Formats: sequence, C-alpha cells, structure tokens
Amino acid sequence: MSAPITQDVLTIPRKAPEGETPNLIGMTREQLRAALIEHGTPEKQAKMREGQIWQWLYHWGVREFTAMTNLSKDYRAFLDRTFQIKLPEVVTKQVSADGTRKYLLRIDGGHEVETVYIPEEGRGTLCISSQVGCTLTCSFCHTGTQKLVRNLTAAEIVGQVMVARDDLGDWNTPGEPKREERLVSNVVLMGMGEPLYNFDNVRDAMKIVMDGEGISLSRRRITLSTSGIVPEIARTAEEIGCLLAISFHATTDEVRDKLVPVNKKWNIETLLKALRDYPRLSNSERITFEYVMLKDVNDSDEDARRLVKLIRGIPAKINLIPFNEWPGAPYQRSDWERIEDFADIIFKAGYASPIRTPRGEDIMAACGQLKSATERGRKSRAQIAAEAAGTAAGA
Ligand code: SAH
Ligand code: SF4
Repeated sequence: MSAPITQDVLTIPRKAPEGETPNLIGMTREQLRAALIEHGTPEKQAKMREGQIWQWLYHWGVREFTAMTNLSKDYRAFLDRTFQIKLPEVVTKQVSADGTRKYLLRIDGGHEVETVYIPEEGRGTLCISSQVGCTLTCSFCHTGTQKLVRNLTAAEIVGQVMVARDDLGDWNTPGEPKREERLVSNVVLMGMGEPLYNFDNVRDAMKIVMDGEGISLSRRRITLSTSGIVPEIARTAEEIGCLLAISFHATTDEVRDKLVPVNKKWNIETLLKALRDYPRLSNSERITFEYVMLKDVNDSDEDARRLVKLIRGIPAKINLIPFNEWPGAPYQRSDWERIEDFADIIFKAGYASPIRTPRGEDIMAACGQLKSATERGRKSRAQIAAEAAGTAAGA
C-alpha cells in the first residue's frame, strides 16, 4: 500500500485545554490587545498595556506577571487571574561533541517536538519545527516516517525560540544595555514538519520573532524550507518576508516523485515556474536549493549539469546536504569525493554550492534525523526498505 501524496490538513484553532486560562504567548499584537479588552481592560488603555506586556514577554523574557513592575499591582493580579504565560516544557536537552544542542519539548496533548541549536563562527542558528511529524513521506527523511499528529500552534512555534533563549541565557537584562550580539541570531524552519501546511501559525509566530520590540530578528535571518507546496509559496514573500529554501533533491520528475512524493502533485516544472514568479526574487535574497546527496540515486555529474540548467535565471544558491543516516534508512550518503565533484560542476556554472557540514550527528540532531522520541522506530526497517526499493532500483 502506498502512502497518500498529501493529506488534506485542516487547522482547527486550538482552544486552551479545559480549565486553563488563555496563553498570551503566540498571540499577535492585535490578538493580545483584543484579549485584554475582552477581559475588561479599558479600550483607551489597551494599546499601552499591550506594548508593556509585549516588552516583558519578548524583550526581557519574563514569565511571571508579578515581575511586570511598570504595571500596577492590581493590574498584575488581574493578568495573573485571567491569562497564563506558557511555553513548551523541556523534557531533555542533549549537547553534541560539536556544541550542537537538541531539545526534546513536550507540548499540550503530551506530544513531542525537537528543536536544534547550531552554534557557528559569528552566528547561532536555531532549527525549529512546525508540525508534530509530517504528512509528507519523503523517503529519505526520518520525520516522514512518523505520522502527523498535529500542527503546532503559534505559541509552540515561537515558544521553541524562547526556550532556546532561556537555556542559552540570551535575553536582555534590565539595567544592562540592549544586547546586540545574540546567541540565537538566525532561525530556520527546517525541523519537523512542512511549514507551508501550517502557514498561518508559522506566519504569526515569525511576526512575533521579527517584532522590533521583542526578539527582534530581521526577516533576512529567518529561512523557511519547503518541499514545494506551490500554492503557498508566494505567500511566504508576501505575508512573512523571510528567505526561502526549497527541498529540491532531484533533477528529473521520475526520481523526485520517489524522493519527494509531493512532486506528483506539483512537479519540477510547476515548482520552478512558481519560483520564477516569486515576489521577492533578487540577487540579495536568493532562493536556496537544498539537495540531499544520496549515493547512486541523485549524485551523478549528469544530475549536477541538469540541475544548473533547470534553475537557470533564478537567483539561487545550492546547498548540498550529505545524507544523514537514521536507523533503517534506505539510502547511503554519497562519497565525499562525489559530493565535491558535484559541487564543483555547480560552482563552475556560477552558483555558490556550499556543502552543509553535518552537525550534531552523535545526538541524532542533523537534518532529517528529527523525530519524536516516542515515535522512533515505529516503522520497521524492512517496511521502510520495501517502500524505498523502487527509488534505489530506479536510479
Ligand atoms: N519539510 C520541510 C522542512 C524540514 S526538512 C522541507 O522538507 O523542506 C529540512 C531539510 O532537511 C530538507 O531539505 C529535507 O529534505 C532535508 N532532509 C530530510 N531528511 C534528511 C536526511 N536524512 N539527510 C539530509 N537531509 C535531510
Ligand atoms: Fe516532511 Fe520535509 Fe521530511 Fe519531506 S523532508 S517528510 S516535507 S519534513
């Protein structure tokens, strides 16, 4: 039985669990103000209160209403009775030999997601998840073997950034000058899930992350990676404004159908057309083409030449990702020499072609290795191998 290409996912707005007060985290400014008014804050005060609370939450990282000292004691007590400040709970934190940190977070319903922090020279990238699992079934991706449980809420998405800042001590401190150097300086939506199948929550969370009076990351420091959900691609530029990465991974529909099955719905030609029409296409904001290097599947010189031909005219860089293995994975990483020769062809054609250094492999934190711990190993090795057999043989 083959898995559906894509399921129709309906995002049902999540209410606070029974008996719990509404969570202020994840509300947009407009939603926050409306919630204050709804619970009795006079309309003419609401704008100011919104600004004050926002700063406590997202500039100072405060978690107790009692600490919001520029609000009257009565108002703080009102907030405490009426709302809550709730983040995902850190279940475990693992630190790799290379400094990469992986957090396993628990969210409402007992579900789990993973978030990875990757420190590099001059920057720190946080890789966040947008869904529990993924409805798509890319054959090389560990997350793809886990059934989707649900979309993350905006609170759970921005909450991942906040939890990492907590752990790294990355918040501003009252009385000290505003931090210019951030440990979390970049955010990539490259964890679990397809962000364009959870568009509204991803957008609202990124608006909070970009807000200048809060976490304040520039839109150019956020990259959203998609497997190619064509009808939603333009909205990324229009409604979020962040950078775009495309999980391309193959140069013929025959191979891409097997690696990224959503290709059967929106094939290479349709995807490339959407990218040529992308509203923010420019040399300073090039589209990243991600390309996972799978031994004898998509890594030939011919593939490299086809790739540069296909994307001609699109301001692009190509990010080569050595395949990261996971238990039962039906593929192997291409040899280093092969990856370098492939990169060389792309480079000579005029594209930047960085090879992504695998990070945090010892803690299963590298690209495509994420999966809720409780879900690990749910599919048997044989099952996965059988499903992918067509791919390996066909290439
Ligand atoms: N669902 C989105 C974002 C998450 S995946 C997407 O597919 O774009 C982030 C990147 O890691 C994608 O390019 C994905 O194809 C790649 N990836 C998945 N599994 C991998 C693996 N085992 N090794 C290397 N890269 C992998
Ligand atoms: Fe989902 Fe992305 Fe993994 Fe494909 S690569 S299964 S779209 S998370």
